[in-house]
Amino acid sequence: MHILCNRLDKAFQAYQQEFENKAVEVLRSGYYVMGKELQSFEREFAQFLGASHCIGVGNGLSALSMAFYLLGIGTGDEVIVPANTYIASVLGVTLNGAVPVFVEPDTYYNINADLIEEAITEKTRAILAVHLYGQAANMKRILQIAEKYNLKVVEDCAQSHGAAFEGKQTGTFGDFGCFSFYPTKNLGAFGDGGALVTNHADLAEQAKMFRNYGSKRKYYNEIMGVNSRLDEFQAGMLRIKLRHYSELLQERKNLAAYYESNIKNPAFILPKVREGAETVWHQYVVRVNERDEVQRKLKSEGIDTMIHYPIPPYLAESMRYLNIPEEKYPLAGKYAREVLSMPFYNGMTEQEQEYVVKVINSL
Ligand SMILES: *Cc1c(COP(=O)(O)O)cnc(C)c1O
Repeated sequence: MHILCNRLDKAFQAYQQEFENKAVEVLRSGYYVMGKELQSFEREFAQFLGASHCIGVGNGLSALSMAFYLLGIGTGDEVIVPANTYIASVLGVTLNGAVPVFVEPDTYYNINADLIEEAITEKTRAILAVHLYGQAANMKRILQIAEKYNLKVVEDCAQSHGAAFEGKQTGTFGDFGCFSFYPTKNLGAFGDGGALVTNHADLAEQAKMFRNYGSKRKYYNEIMGVNSRLDEFQAGMLRIKLRHYSELLQERKNLAAYYESNIKNPAFILPKVREGAETVWHQYVVRVNERDEVQRKLKSEGIDTMIHYPIPPYLAESMRYLNIPEEKYPLAGKYAREVLSMPFYNGMTEQEQEYVVKVINSL
C-alpha cells in the first residue's frame, strides 16, 4: 500500500459537481476580480467567524504583512513571534522592516504565553499569535499581556480556520486575523488566496483600500497600496468549501480520534489539546526521537510523512542577519528535530489509517 501524506483531490471529488457548477458560473459571468463572489464570500466568512469585517486578499503572507503595515508597525519596532512556526508568519513582520523577537513554544507547539513578558522591551509594539497545526494559542493570556503593555495583537490563522478558544473563533481576538486559503490549508482554494478579518471598522476600510492600490473609488488613490486581491474564481470555490466546512472538520476530528486511540507505539508522542481549545487538526503532528530514521522506515513501508518544520525560522538562512545563536531556543530546536506529520487528509479511508497505525505499532 502507498499512503500519501496529503491529498487534495479527495475533498474536490466529495463536492465535485458543486465546484464545477460554480466554476462555469464564474467563467460565464464576465466578472473575474472584485465582483459579487468576493463580496458574498467576505460576508459569509465574517459571519462564520463571528467577525465584523472580512477583506479578501491575494494570500496569507500578504494578509500578515498588510496587518502589520496598517497597524503602523515598521522600522525600529519589535514584534513578539513564536520561535516554532512557519517562516511566513515571521516574514509578515520583517517585510515591514520590524524586528521579530522569538519566544519558545509550549507543549501544544504554540507560543508559550508565560514567556512573553520577559521578551518585551520598550520597542515592542505587537504580539503575533500563530495557531499552529489548527490549535488556538493561549489567547486569554496573550490578550492580558497585550492590554497590560498596550500592544497590538495579530493572529496568524493560516492553519486554524474554525478553531476556537473558550468558544471564540481564532482570528477574532486580535486587531487583525490573517487567513490563508492556499490549497493545502483546511479551508483551501484551488490557487492562492487569503483574508484579513477585523472588528475595527476603520482598519477594515484601510485594508479594503490598501489591497487595491489604495483606492476605494477607481483612480482616486487615497493611501499607499498594493495589488493583493482574492479573485472571483477562488472566492466562488471557497464559498462551496465553506458551505461544507463543518462536515470536513468533523471528518478531520474523526481521523485524529482514530490515531489518538490506536497509535500504541510508546516512542510516539501524540498531540495534546489545550484546555478550552477546539482544534481543527490542520496536521496530525507526533514527536519521536530519531525522527529521520523513523521517517525512512515508514517510507520503506509505503507511508509518506512530512516535517512541519525542519528548520525553525530564527535559523533560516534569510534570518541570519538577526544573529540568533542556535542554543537560544532549545525547545523550538528540539521540536524541529522531532516533529513528524502523519498522513492526514479529508477523504483518507479507514483502511489507509489502519495500515499506517499497524506499521507504526510494529516499528
Ligand atoms: C501557509 C501559511 C502562511 C502563508 O500563507 P500563504 O497563503 O501561503 O502566503 C502563513 N503562516 C502559516 C502558519 C502558514 O501555515
